[in-house]
Amino acid sequence: MIGDYFVVNFHEHPGDHLVQKNAEMGIDMSVLLSVGDDALEKSIALSQEKPEMFVPFYWVNPARDLDQEPQRLREAVRKWGIRGIKFQPMDQHWFADDRRLYPIYEVCAELGLVCTWHAGIVKLNFKYELGVPMLARYTDPLPIDQVAFDFPELKICIAHLGGNFNYRAIVLAEKHENVYLDTAFLPFFCSHMLPHISPEELISHAARIAGAEKVLYGSEGLWPQAVLHTELSDREKRLILGENALRLLGLERPSTQ
Ligand SMILES: [Zn+2]
Repeated sequence: MIGDYFVVNFHEHPGDHLVQKNAEMGIDMSVLLSVGDDALEKSIALSQEKPEMFVPFYWVNPARDLDQEPQRLREAVRKWGIRGIKFQPMDQHWFADDRRLYPIYEVCAELGLVCTWHAGIVKLNFKYELGVPMLARYTDPLPIDQVAFDFPELKICIAHLGGNFNYRAIVLAEKHENVYLDTAFLPFFCSHMLPHISPEELISHAARIAGAEKVLYGSEGLWPQAVLHTELSDREKRLILGENALRLLGLERPSTQ
């Protein structure tokens, strides 16, 4: 909590010391985005240790038989309380409108699961992930447009506010009722933009265009205070910091908070 603001980090990755990190940053709940099978296992373990704090997202391994994936996903939801899927297209080497993924989207739409797609060209301290090159060509959010048309019930989140494709991502969220944006890693993306724009300004801009109910606080270097420092209304800040996330995840605010 920050003051009486309930804070959900909609973009976290499983790792060590997350409970401590959340305490330091005032984060009440984190969505754990799994990239790889090991990360998925770790997300599940963390959510079983602290179910009120950690919400696990699933991972689709493109090397496995995709025909079996809808069934595996249903089991994962039943067994582990999975509430969404993280797609990492620069590793998986597919676009969002790849028809191989449509049976998976059908299950997500039916069960109310969120599909978060990485977007934006990133420079990390590694160029390969899971043994493959991280290819920028897959990081444009535009193919999500087709998916949003084909699955109007599917909850879709474009990570990093689209990153360097923020203009495209914001218009997609403006255009489609079911497309959302998270704010993770904005300090990196904003540091690369000309003319200069701060994360606070970009968040305000996205909320003005697409609506505050479409923007979800995500961390990766961005503190929740950045949302409080925008010029948005108190109501809009509450939506972005936590209420939108709870609504999308189908969760209640824990009564102990
Ligand atoms: Zn991330």
